[in-house]
Amino acid sequence: MAVHYQVLVDEKGSPVGAEALLRWHCPGRGMVSPAEFIPLAEETGLIESIGYWVLEEVLSRIAGWKKRGDALAKLQVSVNVSARQFHLPSFCSTVMALLRKTGASPRNLKVEITESALAYDLELVEETLRTLRSMGIRISLDDFGTGYSSLGYLKRLSLDELKIDQGFVRDILDDPNDAAIAETILALASALKLSAVAEGVETKGQLERLVRMGCTRFQGYYFSRPLPALEFEGLIEKSRMGQQRRAW
Ligand code: C2E
Ligand code: MG
Ligand code: MG
Repeated sequence: MAVHYQVLVDEKGSPVGAEALLRWHCPGRGMVSPAEFIPLAEETGLIESIGYWVLEEVLSRIAGWKKRGDALAKLQVSVNVSARQFHLPSFCSTVMALLRKTGASPRNLKVEITESALAYDLELVEETLRTLRSMGIRISLDDFGTGYSSLGYLKRLSLDELKIDQGFVRDILDDPNDAAIAETILALASALKLSAVAEGVETKGQLERLVRMGCTRFQGYYFSRPLPALEFEGLIEKSRMGQQRRAW
């Protein structure tokens, strides 16, 4: 298994973060998408050790970037945490122990959860989120609008960011309903003082439309596919030199 990194950029096209995405190279089957094996790992409980491995891998990487002290040190790296992993009573203490062990700064870490992780005992969820945020970790709500949304929890929970699901971005130029939903999520985020990231931005047209709607954070193939760590480091270096930003 390996962790790949996909850049997140601001409205000027400057990198502000990355999302860590798990890759599994299966002998005989080639690259298997996490969309296929994560649900299976959730069912079997294997997600607990996979999730631990991903966190350790990412935090070690972040700690290495901190030491380099260049543009990479400023990035906030999002890690996807599955519901089952998030609800482990030991989740926060595990994260704390890994931060200590690796020397990574919590300021460089963002935890991405989906709405399904919130559909549990809301008080426990609240407590976990509060603990993570008190440690300086940011919280992002992934695939927003696709799950069992209850807008009540947006008010109640300590969150920092909503991610507009790529399903709403894909046809944003042709489907007025998708455009209306994306715009509504942006308005909601702004009213609740949360930031919003558009996922799955593939074209300049989608980007321009989202910018006109007031979106300021973007992720998608238009900027870069998820890359192995070394290639990702190269991308950030190129971007710092101003070469990359002109290209997208
Ligand atoms: P996600 O967290 O919503 O991640 C975004 C997915 O969209 C990624 O798929 C990414 O490669 C893909 N993507 C990015 N830009 C574009 C674009 O412009 N167009 C299109 N069509 N797709 C784009 P990926 O890497 O296959 O991951 C699928 C899902 O698997 C993730 O969705 C996430 O829910 C889950 N996942 C990935 N890594 C982990 C992990 O380490 N732990 C857990 N629990 N889940 C993970
Ligand atoms: Mg995600
Ligand atoms: Mg997503």
